[in-house]
Amino acid sequence: MCNIDHFESVGLYRIRSKSRIKYLLIIFCIFMIICLNGTVIRGASIDDVPHMTYFLVTVDVETPSPYNMGDFPLPQQINAKIRKEGVGISRMMDIADEYNVLITFFFNVYEYPAFSKDAIKEVVQTISRRGHDVQLHTHPLLIDEKGRPYMYEYGLNEQIDIVKQGRELLREWTGKYPLAHRAGTYAANDNTLLALIENGIFLDSSYRYKYPLCHLREEEFRTNALTQKGLLLEVPVTVFYGDESTSLFGYKLPGHKKLKKFDIDSCDLDLLKIVTTKLYENKMNTITLFMHSWSFVRKWSANPEERVSDTDDINDFREILRFVRNHPGIQPISTSDFWEKWKNGGIVVEKKDFVPETVMSVGLITYARRCLRIHRGNYLYWVAGLVGCGFALAILIFSIRFHKSRKN
Ligand SMILES: [Zn+2]
Repeated sequence: MCNIDHFESVGLYRIRSKSRIKYLLIIFCIFMIICLNGTVIRGASIDDVPHMTYFLVTVDVETPSPYNMGDFPLPQQINAKIRKEGVGISRMMDIADEYNVLITFFFNVYEYPAFSKDAIKEVVQTISRRGHDVQLHTHPLLIDEKGRPYMYEYGLNEQIDIVKQGRELLREWTGKYPLAHRAGTYAANDNTLLALIENGIFLDSSYRYKYPLCHLREEEFRTNALTQKGLLLEVPVTVFYGDESTSLFGYKLPGHKKLKKFDIDSCDLDLLKIVTTKLYENKMNTITLFMHSWSFVRKWSANPEERVSDTDDINDFREILRFVRNHPGIQPISTSDFWEKWKNGGIVVEKKDFVPETVMSVGLITYARRCLRIHRGNYLYWVAGLVGCGFALAILIFSIRFHKSRKN
């Protein structure tokens, strides 16, 4: 009996164990289904995917018009040296290489009437050999009989020819067709985009919000977010608002809000970091750091002894590259690699647009200059006006004193 009872109890125990295992398995399966289902639902949400902001270091390569005096051969104007210190595109690539960053050089190939095609080719190939990106920059004035400087001044067929010529030259010199374009002084219009598409270029970076020479319509493009227009992707030139303020005798003067371009020449390192962080936190896909091939030159002169390098900008460039390279949510990228990611569906346009605002402390002269809207184009009128006023005041004081002395 005892044995039978024992077997019965063991059998009953096994049956109960099997049922328990069955129940446990069912509970486990339900739990897994809930978990997996949750994961799948969560995976579908873009909000839960860690955001990545792509940082495009872009350099417009061209001879700087104030220095283009004809006395200097081309490499000196683009790949300048000051007392053996590199201050041109090679120095930029040296610094970028330290941080494993690829620069995109938007190259103005249309200056060959002044410098020869061989001279331009040599510089283009210097960049290409080092593995950095060469894309097309269009300042067509030197190849135009009428000398028209801006792309929007040309008809559609003329723009198609300009882009075609530049595209073919770059292919001849680098073995690759350009994938991207930036119009000189952002002076693109609708025809420019059509001319690009006609030439198989589908990424443009000419749009600069509220810039008078940019003829791409504000209502059709987003300020800092990507804009897709059919086949074409617009990666805008990054801008932000700087609320410029200063102090006079201890009193803080009211701020003066100014729309600024995100570039190495006009922003110090703190500002570059603040704007970068705000754009990342607001989930912007791209930040375009803007530079020129002469950004590392503070003062150029015919006399080599008077040339001055811009050590601040050189240091800022190094530090902002270090900053983005160490940031887990920001990836420096070349335009070619960005285009590949876009083409493969790795990037979707942002839900919202965003323009950062920052408070900036400026000097009293800069503050006054901004308030009075004095700039390069009109400062001579201001100088002439002030000299004239000073002269008139001097005459008035002199005549009053003269009359007083005569009365006495
Ligand atoms: Zn340019």
